[in-house]
Amino acid sequence: MTDQLGARAQRLERVRGRMGELGVDALLLSHGADLPWLTGYRAMPLERLTLLVLPRDGEAVLIVPALEAPRVPDTAGMVALCPWSETEDPIALAAGLLGPARHAVYGISDRAWAQSLLALQASLPGAQFEAASRVTSPLRAVKDSSEIAALRAAARAADSVAVVLQSGEIPLAGRSEAQVSDALSMGLLAAGHRRVNFAIVGSGPNGASPHHEPGERVIEPGDTVVCDFGGEYVLHDDVGYCSDITRTVAVGEPGAQVRDTYAVLLAAQQAAVDAVRPGVTAEHVDAVARAVITEAGLGEYFIHRTGHGIGIEEHEDPYVVAGNDTALVVGHAFSIEPGIYFPGRFGMRLEDIVVVGEDGAIPLNTVDHSLVVI
Ligand code: ZN
Ligand code: ZN
Ligand code: ZN
Repeated sequence: MTDQLGARAQRLERVRGRMGELGVDALLLSHGADLPWLTGYRAMPLERLTLLVLPRDGEAVLIVPALEAPRVPDTAGMVALCPWSETEDPIALAAGLLGPARHAVYGISDRAWAQSLLALQASLPGAQFEAASRVTSPLRAVKDSSEIAALRAAARAADSVAVVLQSGEIPLAGRSEAQVSDALSMGLLAAGHRRVNFAIVGSGPNGASPHHEPGERVIEPGDTVVCDFGGEYVLHDDVGYCSDITRTVAVGEPGAQVRDTYAVLLAAQQAAVDAVRPGVTAEHVDAVARAVITEAGLGEYFIHRTGHGIGIEEHEDPYVVAGNDTALVVGHAFSIEPGIYFPGRFGMRLEDIVVVGEDGAIPLNTVDHSLVVI
């Protein structure tokens, strides 16, 4: 626990430093990942206001509904608690803490309710509101050692489910996508996840829809099945971190076109992983994966970015996409998940989470990358 408090104190210091660089007077953190990242406390998505008022200088105060206050973990004095009762006005409390607002610049959580922002704007005339992510996202994107440990534990747990899938222990032929999705979800929970975020099962032609909602289609011999699943995993009583893995399996011997296409996909994923190193841009990693698929004449069938950052949120910075010239640094964590999708026929995707190390990518998922035949 002291390690976590130490890590959070360091994050708070870096946040305040960046607020100074960007001229932000206070952060106003409500729903979303910034608050748990800094304090260990995740606000429930209630209409009642939860708001960490974090001035660049001065005491940080967490305005929290009184009935939620018992859930706030110890912050060793980093944050003062200001519980509000049902008859108090929490917006007035926040405005009182902030003082005269004219020309002040506030960064509010990207995921805060619009109703909270509108009420704050009405109470703080003359203040300028910006997205808190301008301050927090680049910092949150670079994981410290406790976060990497949590992502690694989450990935291991998801890997154990992928191993079961590839072993054939989860029956596929003759069962609906929804049944297989349930089995993957149960596996994630049994492997220690606190919550399942998604368990996509796209069989046959449904595999060509990257975020297919698993349904009643019954899986048949000859299908390829895209299985993309992940959840939230809690290590050492900390805030949960996410897992996310995709493996595509073949039900019965696949035809030549499926095999050839999979060879392209595998090469693209491997090339992108190999391209990762400090100093390389996120968009370069996307370009490397895309080049392999395009050179095989399949570029038009790779219809999404190569990856996304991962942490407390399933999707966060850095995005591995054309146009993102963020230079990778040690500690960036993201997915590498190229896919190839033939509408109406079949699709495939291969996804691992990697962390940037001094010498290149450190894959957190390590299960078999080949097209396993079940
Ligand atoms: Zn996705
Ligand atoms: Zn995924
Ligand atoms: Zn993903």
